Amino acid sequence: MGVPYVHERAGARPGPEVLLTALVHGNEYSGAIVLDAFLRSGLTPHSGRITAAFCNVAAFDRFDPGRPDASRFIDEDLNRVWGPRLDAPGTSCELHRARQLRPFVERASHLLDLHSMHEPAPPLLVTGLLARNIAFAQALRSAPQVVADAGHADGVRMRDHGAFADPAGDRIALLLEAGQHWECRSLATSRDVLMRFLVAVGSLARSDVPPGWLGPDVDPPAPVRVTGRVIARSMDFRFVQDFRGGEVIARAGTVIAHDAGEPVATPHEDCVLVMPSVRQLRPGVTTVRFGRR
Ligand SMILES: [Zn+2]
Repeated sequence: MGVPYVHERAGARPGPEVLLTALVHGNEYSGAIVLDAFLRSGLTPHSGRITAAFCNVAAFDRFDPGRPDASRFIDEDLNRVWGPRLDAPGTSCELHRARQLRPFVERASHLLDLHSMHEPAPPLLVTGLLARNIAFAQALRSAPQVVADAGHADGVRMRDHGAFADPAGDRIALLLEAGQHWECRSLATSRDVLMRFLVAVGSLARSDVPPGWLGPDVDPPAPVRVTGRVIARSMDFRFVQDFRGGEVIARAGTVIAHDAGEPVATPHEDCVLVMPSVRQLRPGVTTVRFGRR
């Protein structure tokens, strides 16, 4: 018997082993809508295999429009368990699911993980630090800003698991932050990036893509490399203005927020603000990343 909510489309010949994932966070369902539409399209790869996985369906099942942030996960963040904890004793709803999904992640030559964001913000393609992922993302010519970051101190993301993190390897892993969770624009962005990804991998020809999936080609701005992050120390964390992400703060030392009355300032000049948000605010949570082009 197969693994629940994992679907495969195989081509006639061997080829790239693509994994498309959605609902790693149970409340981010724009990616799931697009993945569902892809499966219904009937498209199959010319070669290799495309696996589509709806990851944290147990959390999504609890989605409540009155408490839309509460179904991000059940026990813990599914996108922080992809390190040594997979092999360690202990379990949780999310560790159990990660262990089910692990064979699909480990066989994938190419991973596209579809996410969305707490706040209305321009979309991002998150690549990690390896040059091959940054180059692959830039070459897609999609609208999202490419962001190179080192992941999270509090656990390993799926896209940083195993061979994806091998500097000498050739596996590709991208994470799309498509825009705000429940905006229609996030669907359009997810559709566009998913198809561009499959064409770039070679699973599909551009002429296979059904009408309405692709947006216009974009000349992408230079990647933003994350230089640091701000971790909230208190519940009294406030930005000085309504930052949306993508703002470039020219002067080093510019105060952008206050945390328990203490100023939070930009660490260098021409500092790009990446994903500012206090929606999940509690001490220890990242409220904004700094970057430079
Ligand atoms: Zn997410």
